[in-house]
Amino acid sequence: MNVITLLGGKSVFTDRGTFGACSVYLIRDEKNIIVDTGHFGSRDALVRNMGNLGISANEVDFVVLTHLNWDHCLNVDIFKDAKVVLGKEEYLKGTLTGANDSLSVFFRRYLEERDILLIEGDRKISENVSVISTPGHTPGHVALLALDEGRKLVFTGDAVPNMRAYRRGIPDYVFHDLSKAKASVERIKAMKPDVIYPGHDDPFNDSGYIDYQPLNIFVKTSEERDICFQVNFQEPLAPLVYEGI
Ligand SMILES: [Zn+2]
Repeated sequence: MNVITLLGGKSVFTDRGTFGACSVYLIRDEKNIIVDTGHFGSRDALVRNMGNLGISANEVDFVVLTHLNWDHCLNVDIFKDAKVVLGKEEYLKGTLTGANDSLSVFFRRYLEERDILLIEGDRKISENVSVISTPGHTPGHVALLALDEGRKLVFTGDAVPNMRAYRRGIPDYVFHDLSKAKASVERIKAMKPDVIYPGHDDPFNDSGYIDYQPLNIFVKTSEERDICFQVNFQEPLAPLVYEGI
């Protein structure tokens, strides 16, 4: 088995709304499985990264949508030959925005035209990969458990969007049911995963990040140059101690 991060997930919150980009992973088992597809703002980067890695959209067997929030599902049309896998409850009740919007009905209509596999409970979709039920963030949220030569890899979507959520035992946002959301984090923890592949963060485990990618944020200015902030994870600086004063 081989896991490729096609897009690293990040969360950026501003007072003008969230610019969060979800992670997009490719699991190569005996099937090729995409986990989430991102939103339109990350479409170019997704297509470019796939091209650079020599991955063609039509070799993908399954696209698993962990849930139907807009930041996780809008590029599903890139993989037009793949079977779309999602929770049955999500298909029936999930929404693009997490609210009772009037747009989700159009996305559901699009999915009706696709080859879809609706999951109730847990279900194996390849030799070593199972879709598992992790509701709470949304009504029918699912995650994936992959067994890679004895190692447990869990692709959590927004049941566990980031390392902080894993440690706190609750996702950053709950659009459906708080107690189910907490139970889903507990379920994932109880699996004792070797690696968590979260919905909006870099892969980590109990020891910390495994592969941290910095995030560049560009802000347009009135001048010729843009301002670029690079957000990077680093260990805290050691305390400065001046002795003898
Ligand atoms: Zn999300």
